[in-house]
Amino acid sequence: MSKSKIWLSSPHIGTNELQYVNEAFATNWIAPLGPHVNAFEQALQDQTQTKHAAALSSGTSAIHLALILLGVKAGDTVFCQSITFSASANPIAYQGALPVFIDSEIDTWNIDPILLKAALEEAKRSDKLPKAIIPVHLYGMPAKMNEIISIANEYGVPVIEDAAEALGSSIENKPCGSFGEFGVLSFNGNKIITTSGGGALISENAEMIEKARFLATQARDAAPHYQHSHIGYNYRMSNVLAGIGRGQLEVLDDRVAARRKNNERYKQYFSKFNNAGFDIQFQEEPEGYYSNRWLTCIVVDPATNNGLTREEIRLAMDEENIETRPLWKPMHQQPVFSSSKSYLNGVSDKLFENGLCLPSGSNLTAEEFERIFNCLDKIFSNHI
Ligand SMILES: *Cc1c(COP(=O)(O)O)cnc(C)c1O
Repeated sequence: MSKSKIWLSSPHIGTNELQYVNEAFATNWIAPLGPHVNAFEQALQDQTQTKHAAALSSGTSAIHLALILLGVKAGDTVFCQSITFSASANPIAYQGALPVFIDSEIDTWNIDPILLKAALEEAKRSDKLPKAIIPVHLYGMPAKMNEIISIANEYGVPVIEDAAEALGSSIENKPCGSFGEFGVLSFNGNKIITTSGGGALISENAEMIEKARFLATQARDAAPHYQHSHIGYNYRMSNVLAGIGRGQLEVLDDRVAARRKNNERYKQYFSKFNNAGFDIQFQEEPEGYYSNRWLTCIVVDPATNNGLTREEIRLAMDEENIETRPLWKPMHQQPVFSSSKSYLNGVSDKLFENGLCLPSGSNLTAEEFERIFNCLDKIFSNHI
C-alpha cells in the first residue's frame, strides 16, 4: 500500500469558512464584490494595521496594480529581490519595464540593504533611478525593512513590499506589508491562509487604493453606459472567496502558532545531529523580528555535513511520498530573465544550491512528523 502524501503546505480550513460561503449563496451574492469583500478588506486593514486594503484576484495582480499606480512604464527599471517566487518579478515584465535583481544578506535571506544602496547610487549617477523597489519576506521572514525604507527614502524611490508569504509576520510588532508605499498579500492555496486563490493590495494612501479598485474593475468611467478612459483589468476578488478569507483570518493566529511550533520541532530534531558534528542551518530571526514561519527551510552544505546534500534528502523524502522543495531559484538564474541586470554577492546562489523547504503545514500531524523524522534518521545514519 502506498503511503499518503505529506505536502509542503496544504490548505487548512477552520470552522467558519463554510458558514460564510453558505451565507453568500443564501443571499445570492455570488458576484465579484459584495458584503464579504467589504468585511474581508476591513479585517485585513485591522490585521496589517494599514488604513486601506483592496481584495484582489491574486497577489500577482496586486503587484501589477502597484506598479501601474507608481507609473511604471515600458523601458523603466524596477529593483527586485532576486531570491523570490517569479510572481514578484513577472508584473515588471507585464509593464514592459526592466527588472534589476538584487541579492540577499545572510541574516534574513532577503534583499541586502548594502547592495541595494550600491545599486541605487550607481543608478542615480547614470540618471536612471528605478521606479520602485520590491523587497520580499521570504518564507515569512521579514526583510530588513527599516534599513530598506530609509535607503529608499534617501533616493526618493517607493517600496512595494511583497508580503505574499508573510501575513502575520512583523518587526517590533509592526506588521509586514505596512512598511512600504504598498504592501502585497497572497491567499493562494499554499499560503499561510487561503481563499483558494486571491490577494490584496494594502496602503496608507486612500487615493491609491481607490484607483486600484477602479483599475481592478475594468476602469469604468462614471456613466450609465460602458465608458472607458483607461485600460482596465478584471482583478477583483469574488464575494464567495472573500467569505473563505473571513473565516481564515479568524484563525490566522492559530496558523502562525502551529507553523512556529513546526519550526521549533524541526530545530529540536536537527539539534541532535548538529551536536554530533553536523551543521544544519536555519533562517534565524534577528532581534525584534517575528516570522510567521510559513515554511521551515534548512541549508545543508555538504562540505560541513559529512558529504550530505540537500538533493539526497529531497530524493529520499520523495521516495517516502514526502514533499520537499529546493529554496526558490533566484531570478538572476532564471532562463526567462537571463538578459536582466543583477547585483550579486553569492548569498542567494549558495542558498539555492544547498537549501531545502520542509513540510510546514499548520495541519501536519504527529504521525506525519514521525514519518518525516524516520526518513531523516535513515538519511543521516548513512553519513555518520
Ligand atoms: C505566492 C507569491 C506571490 C504571488 O501570489 P499569487 O496570489 O499566487 O498570485 C508573489 N510573491 C511571492 C513571494 C509569493 O510567494
